[in-house]
Amino acid sequence: MKRLEGKVALVTGSSSGIGQAIAIRLASEGAQVVINYRSSPEGAEDTLEKVKATGGACHMAGCPNAGVSVQADVSVLEDVRELIGEGIERFGKLDILVNNAGLEIHAPFWEVTEKDYDKVMDVNLKGAFFAAQSMARHLMETKRSGRIINISSVHEELPFPNFTAYCASKGGMKMMTRNLAVELAPYDITVNNVAPGAIKTPINDDLTNNPDQLNALLQNIPLGRLGKTDDVSGLVAFLASEEASYITGSTFVVDGGLTWNYQEQ
Ligand code: NAP
Repeated sequence: MKRLEGKVALVTGSSSGIGQAIAIRLASEGAQVVINYRSSPEGAEDTLEKVKATGGACHMAGCPNAGVSVQADVSVLEDVRELIGEGIERFGKLDILVNNAGLEIHAPFWEVTEKDYDKVMDVNLKGAFFAAQSMARHLMETKRSGRIINISSVHEELPFPNFTAYCASKGGMKMMTRNLAVELAPYDITVNNVAPGAIKTPINDDLTNNPDQLNALLQNIPLGRLGKTDDVSGLVAFLASEEASYITGSTFVVDGGLTWNYQEQ
């Protein structure tokens, strides 16, 4: 029996990068998956095809029940509630929520606009907050245990000049997770963060297309390479499984050693 057989997972922002890898990995472990996208239906379609191809949650030829793709902007409360509602309607329930949708906007602190600040906070923190709220209500109403896994960042701890709103959103996510872990524990709902370091995805295109910047970063990563999306998705699958039932309120760093790297020549 597969680890996540019989489970239904919703992964926000799964039309690209880390979210796509998580959706595919959870499906390969047997979960049915609600894929979410904001602006890229093609990306979501690609994820859905790959989810079906894993054969993980296939009960019929062509895998019609393996997954579904839903458009929603997680920065809009109404969209978040509809997204969770559509997932429940499609599969009858949700067991696992992965708050992955996120973005970053580069600007020196003194040039950050209100619009860009709101955009970063609304997607990265407000979206995750209200998705977790809808998920918790659903689990409490149906009297079932569940998992909430937030894709945070090493920048929930580590400063990142020119990305202050991003750091604030991930720092907020860290405290949200600790709080929810305590508040939702009586309902057997666990809440954890996964904090990637530098993972090769479109969010880092500017960096990976700049050899000088990339080499400087690689010097800071003890394992000497960028992370792959599957370095993150395997951990998420573990946290979503029964094996992680006694783990809550924690952050798990996936960064090749970046955060605690300090050396003297
Ligand atoms: P990515 O490839 O740019 O993917 C971002 C995903 O988020 C896309 O699927 C995008 O959907 C979705 N998204 C953005 N705004 C959204 C909104 N308002 N509503 C719903 N979905 C939205 O980035 P990634 O690197 O995979 O990042 C995923 C998560 O990992 C983020 O939370 C990021 O902060 C975190 N993270 C990444 C790294 C890294 O090095 N890559 C490191 C630390 C943390 P559409 O394309 O359909 O709009």
